[in-house]
Amino acid sequence: MAEKITVNSEGVLNVSDNPIIPFIEGDGIGVDIWPAAKLVLDAAAKKYGKTIEWKEVLAGEKAFNETGDWLPEQTIVDFREYLIGIKGPLTTPIGGGFRSLNVALRQILDLYVCLRPVRWFKGVPSPVKQPELVDMVIFRENTEDVYAGLELEAGTPDAEKLRAFLKDSYGWDIREMSGIGIKPISKFGSERLIRAAIKYALEHKRESVNLVHKGNIQKFTEGAFMKWGYELVRNEFADVAVGWADCDGKPGSKLLVKDSIADITLQQVLTRPSEFSVIATMNLNGDYLSDALAAQVGGIGIAPGANINYVTGHGIFEATHGTAPKYAGQDKVNPGSVLLSGVLMFEHLGWQGAADDIVCALEATISDKIVTYDFARLMDGATEVKCSEFASAIVDRL
Ligand code: NAP
Repeated sequence: MAEKITVNSEGVLNVSDNPIIPFIEGDGIGVDIWPAAKLVLDAAAKKYGKTIEWKEVLAGEKAFNETGDWLPEQTIVDFREYLIGIKGPLTTPIGGGFRSLNVALRQILDLYVCLRPVRWFKGVPSPVKQPELVDMVIFRENTEDVYAGLELEAGTPDAEKLRAFLKDSYGWDIREMSGIGIKPISKFGSERLIRAAIKYALEHKRESVNLVHKGNIQKFTEGAFMKWGYELVRNEFADVAVGWADCDGKPGSKLLVKDSIADITLQQVLTRPSEFSVIATMNLNGDYLSDALAAQVGGIGIAPGANINYVTGHGIFEATHGTAPKYAGQDKVNPGSVLLSGVLMFEHLGWQGAADDIVCALEATISDKIVTYDFARLMDGATEVKCSEFASAIVDRL
């Protein structure tokens, strides 16, 4: 009988061989990529005697057409109750009251980690010479920074009020007709993100955690993120991890926690990728870094992601690209992003064997040069197949 996934007081999930998992098909190309990904996920799970009871929940256009609501309350109730879910891309409603449905889901469930593993899969066309050196896992803070900040439009009464206040209180003379933005970075938010990254690095036997920040300029937001990170290592992980400055870069058998400035990081992930393993960073830096890194290993069509709260046990795994409306319903695009998000979900559930099998089968399919249009246009001698045919080819190789 199908069962709910539960979580204990330490945030450890209890997953049966027959869990109920809610899914959002997604708008646009969601109708193509979700069935394709599901075919592979079900086949891999079955090899290990596991069956997922998929429970459709609504969001986006399908929800709006059926219920008049872009994000029905029942969807939130189901994600809360069943803990782990997966979703395709969603259209951002215009005038729907949300900045974005994805952001709304992250905020409502307080999914504070945006997890983005970036690695190269054999055979995938890449613009760099040694894509196999890219094997990084980004922990991007999901609830703060400019995304949770305040912005005031230049010349408005509010901007003028703030400008006058800053002049009076701090002697800070901001030029007339300036837009003004404020970003919050908290100790609590930084610590829980960095804690999750360190625990992940320890569990997955990674060499280092790199705190990426722009603290040379923004000392009390981005700089504080780094400072709180090093303090956390000393206070909570001293027996298993050590900060760079506390060991002169020689951590012995411990996990090394280091830091780097965001601008040079964007250069070095390209020129010295093997020096980066787990990256912990704030919301905006993480946004830039994850897309820049995805480009090195084959682009947006195969970049997986997850939004997780490691304390409550909630997690939503998702394709990182959008709805690509021009391709919707054509059975054309690459289902890799949502499929690999499913792989990430399997790993999170402790189904490592099934996850590894999918990755091997995906690599075998690409090595045989059976690919969707996005890879076919970059490869010599490839056989271009439809989205569904690509999924069937992966299943054949499982
Ligand atoms: P997009 O949907 O990500 O598509 C941009 C381009 O990326 C496509 O034209 C295509 O490139 C490529 N692409 C995307 N998915 C692909 C796949 N599965 N396989 C192969 N190539 C793929 O971005 P957009 O057109 O800017 O956004 C469209 C809508 O999606 C908007 O409403 C936006 O708000 C929403 N969106 C949602 C999410 C989400 O739900 N997580 C994220 C981003 C955007 P080529 O044209 O080169 O073939």
